Parts: sequence; structure tokens; C-alpha cells
Amino acid sequence: MPDKNEKIGFIGLGNMGNPMARHLSSAGYELMIFDISSELSSQVAKDIGSTAAKNLKEIGKFADIIVTCLPNGKIVQDVMAGTGKLANVMNDGSLLIDMSSSDPIETGQLGGSLRELGISMIDAPVSGGVKGAHAGTLTIIVGGDAQDVERANSLLNVLGGKVFHVGRLGCGQAMKALNNLCSATGLLIVAEALKAGETFGLNPEMMINVLNVSTGRNNSTENKVKQFILSGQYEKAGFAMDLMVKDISTAVSFAQELKVSMPLGSKAVDVWSNALASLGGKPDHTEIARWVSDGKS
Ligand code: NAD
Repeated sequence: MPDKNEKIGFIGLGNMGNPMARHLSSAGYELMIFDISSELSSQVAKDIGSTAAKNLKEIGKFADIIVTCLPNGKIVQDVMAGTGKLANVMNDGSLLIDMSSSDPIETGQLGGSLRELGISMIDAPVSGGVKGAHAGTLTIIVGGDAQDVERANSLLNVLGGKVFHVGRLGCGQAMKALNNLCSATGLLIVAEALKAGETFGLNPEMMINVLNVSTGRNNSTENKVKQFILSGQYEKAGFAMDLMVKDISTAVSFAQELKVSMPLGSKAVDVWSNALASLGGKPDHTEIARWVSDGKS
């Protein structure tokens, strides 16, 4: 059973954070929530029977553990130490769990500066998408000191059954970025294969049926193409393309810092970045397939 003695502050109530906060509330945690959109905060608080903080100061004073599920690490940094100054009001001995997909190196730096204020930090980015967040079946990839991970363990188990402690602070983020590089490259090649196959005269549904029982199958053939792409329901996938581009750029740039060559990864980042720029607005990541199909790649 989760340790319910710790009060939880949850920040970032978007596609992922909303269902995750809901699970924590249902599991019996004393929860305060916050989003930069106060309308969203109030709505979610009403829906899940929790309290919406009026500002970061209020949530910082309330919580023993702060969970962030924000668009990127720069925003986490800004909330904690930049304009938000949340770290200045957090209680001594409190814990930050960053469940956003953030930069691994910047995560290590943020953890170092928080430690000086008596605040511990672990990174715990997730995989499994909106579907996994709703089902409480996320894969959670954790980096940090063992005692901090142990402290977070029961809470993380509420959100996902597969919790991996992969190393020191930042390792979760490194693993997550590499996962998304594999995922994005897999989706891109499937989109290109569908375009070539269709142009040759193959039926795309039939192609997916064949791929899914053959060696070319991947997460996109199994869980994305029919569901969101061939059905034209791109936005239902619930993962914005700019977030995917952020993650795969993170992976390739830290590989570059380590002097690891990633020719295919770098090419994938170029193609995804072109798609994002050319589509404009805030497309879902699955729209890469429409862009490829329209001959824009
Ligand atoms: P989202 O854009 O739907 O939600 C982000 C939320 O953060 C929004 O509600 C926004 O208002 C809020 N926010 C932004 N700036 C803020 C600030 N300064 N203070 C407080 N709130 C602020 O994004 P999402 O899809 O929920 O993703 C959240 C994180 O999880 C990202 O880092 C993403 O890469 C990662 N992730 C997403 C998915 C997915 O399928 N959507 C899967 C795995 C990981």
C-alpha cells in the first residue's frame, strides 16, 4: 500500500498529468494540484476531488513531495528555480519527482542546486502514452539516489506497474530520450513504407495486418497506424509533435556531447523537425504519417 503520510503537490495537468493526478487522488493521497492554466486546475480539482493551488507558493508550502509533469526541463527549471522560485518555499527535506521528459544533463544540474537547499530530486519520465496514463500502466524510468527512489516507490507504483531504477539522477531522462528516438524512427520508417506500398498498389490496412505478424512490426504498427493514422484521428494519440522533436533532439545532442555518432538518429531528427516546421501549429506526432503521405518529406 502506498505511504499516504506524505502530501503530494502535482504540477502540470495536461494530457498526461491529468490522469496521473486522478490516479493519485483515487489511491488516497492528500493532493494539491497546479497548472499555469487556472481554469484547467479548477476543472481537474473538481473532477478528481482535490484542491487547486492558487499559486506555486501555496503548493510548495503544502507538499512533502512535488511531482512535475511539464512540457520540458526548461519549464521545470523555471518553475523550481527561475521565475517560479518554488524551491525557495519548499520544505526542508522535501522531494521533487520530475516526471516530465527533460534533458538528462540539465536534470543533474538542477538536482545539484536543489540539494544545496535541502531538497532531493529524482527523475521519473514515463512511457506508455495517454492510454497508459489513463490505465495506470505507465513504464516509469527512474534516476536518482536509492533512498529517494525508495521514498517515491509506492507513489510511482500507483501510476505504473513497471518501475525501473536505471541509475543516478538524469539516467531516467537519458533512457527516456533514447526510447523516443527508437519510437520516432520506427514511426517514420513505417510512414515511408506505407507511402511506398500504397503508391505500388498495396492496401495500407493490409500492410499493417502483414507487418503485425511479421518482422517489420513495431509499436507504431501495433498501436498507432490503424488507431490514429488510417482512421484520421491523429489528435486522439495525445502526444504533440513538438514534444517528440524535443525528446529526440535531446537524445541526439547528448550522444553528440559523448562523441557517439548517430547518423540515423540525426537524420530522423532532421526529418521530424522539417515536418514540424512545415505542418505549423501544434500537430500530434502521428501527423508525420500524413505529411509523408502528402509527399512533403
Ligand atoms: P501537455 O502539453 O498536454 O501538458 C503540459 C501541461 O503543463 C499543460 O496543461 C500546461 O498548461 C502546463 N504548464 C506549462 N507550463 C507550465 C508552468 N510554467 N507551470 C505550470 N503548468 C504549466 O503535455 P503532456 O502530453 O501531458 O506531456 C507532459 C510531459 O510528459 C512532457 O514532458 C512530455 O514529453 C511527456 N510525455 C508525454 C506523453 C504523451 O503521450 N503525451 C508520453 C510520455 C511522456
